[in-house]
Amino acid sequence: MRIPKRVAVIGAGTMGSQAMWRLVARGAEVIGYDRYAPGHDRGAAGGESRIFRAVHLGEPGYIPLLGLADRMWEELQAETGRSLRRRSGCLVMGETASPAMRLLLSASSTHRLDHEVLDRDELARRYPQHRLPDGHTAVLDREGAIIRPEASVQAAAARAEQLGARLHRYTPVREIVPAAGGGVHIITDQGTDHVDTAVVTAGPWINTLLPDLPRSVDVRRVVCSWHIPTRHDWFAGGAPPFVRATPHDCFGIPSPDGISVKLGLSFKYHAPVPEPERLDRTVRPEELGIFRELIGELMPDLNPDPIRMSAYMEGYTESGDPLVGHLPGEDDIIVMAGFSGSGFKLSPAMGEIAADLALDGTTEHPIDFLAPAGVAAA
Ligand SMILES: Cc1cc2nc3c(=O)[nH]c(=O)nc-3n(C[C@H](O)[C@H](O)[C@H](O)COP(=O)(O)OP(=O)(O)OC[C@H]3O[C@@H](n4cnc5c(N)ncnc54)[C@H](O)[C@@H]3O)c2cc1C
Repeated sequence: MRIPKRVAVIGAGTMGSQAMWRLVARGAEVIGYDRYAPGHDRGAAGGESRIFRAVHLGEPGYIPLLGLADRMWEELQAETGRSLRRRSGCLVMGETASPAMRLLLSASSTHRLDHEVLDRDELARRYPQHRLPDGHTAVLDREGAIIRPEASVQAAAARAEQLGARLHRYTPVREIVPAAGGGVHIITDQGTDHVDTAVVTAGPWINTLLPDLPRSVDVRRVVCSWHIPTRHDWFAGGAPPFVRATPHDCFGIPSPDGISVKLGLSFKYHAPVPEPERLDRTVRPEELGIFRELIGELMPDLNPDPIRMSAYMEGYTESGDPLVGHLPGEDDIIVMAGFSGSGFKLSPAMGEIAADLALDGTTEHPIDFLAPAGVAAA
């Protein structure tokens, strides 16, 4: 009888819960650890909703990974019987001449993605809640969807446990130490486990566990703000979420409760988080200013007084591409980190890739451009 590979997953959040599911489904003995428990809102997975779209702005390399993620989201829902993702379409708006919008349009055509270009009149007719400045274009990505993040993390972790994975809740891993005879020691306050391979998915806490990553992960505080519409039915026509590319750099998602619209901002607005365990979760009135400005200019039918504001955190890399793969020089340690504000949609694909890397040592999915050490310039 073949002895199953023993794999530790450190951090049962967005990526870790999916990695646990795929690893145990493919025959591994899985031990997961989380400093809290699946579905908590202290890291990168909180805030009620996430956008799925078929094109990652300007990056054709992600298209096959998003295709894999799309299939894996369906599989997770079918296996768990849970509704985790709702097909809504996604509106992407930005300056027509900007490199990001040009790449989005060319990638959508080249890869024959189901999309529609809307001019200002058509946008005003179908989505009157949005103002489109002169020189801007709107693209409706019909494969776009809204994901429920907390429910997804809990569903993937629960499915993994149902299939036999063990999960140590409220158990921070203190150290990951390569063992002399192969494998890895996982050290917690409760003791030490020895495993064949460790998959490290500690999200915004990654630097405390792996302080010498080959590409740095900059942890930032991400504030979201929820606003009630005063006019127009934001929940009609599939209630598409939206992304406003440069210069506005924001996004919005009609809430699943049908009451408000969540607004979020991009990297340039996020403050550094020196210590993830001390994330400042209090949002001050002055932090509302930028949301009010964006509402006034782009969505004047939202009430600028929010009903809720919350702070989360996320790890960003310089290029925006996460680190996915074996740590250089460590055959038994796999890292997945630095998803730079865009990782949720990819998470079930990352779970499958974690299982490939841990069980087969390699993957047929195209992740070379995400190598932890980066890609050497040609
Ligand atoms: C507000 C916000 C909105 C976003 N919107 C979108 C979107 O619309 N679409 C999209 O695709 N992406 C979006 N993202 C990005 C996406 O949510 C993240 O890329 C993704 O959640 C990152 O997952 P992760 O597994 O790296 O981190 P997390 O989900 O935070 O998981 C890390 C886990 O590791 C655990 N952990 C940490 N240290 C230890 C330790 N020492 N021992 C044990 N456990 C540990 C933590 O408790 C946590 O559960 C958004 C992010 C934020 C913050």
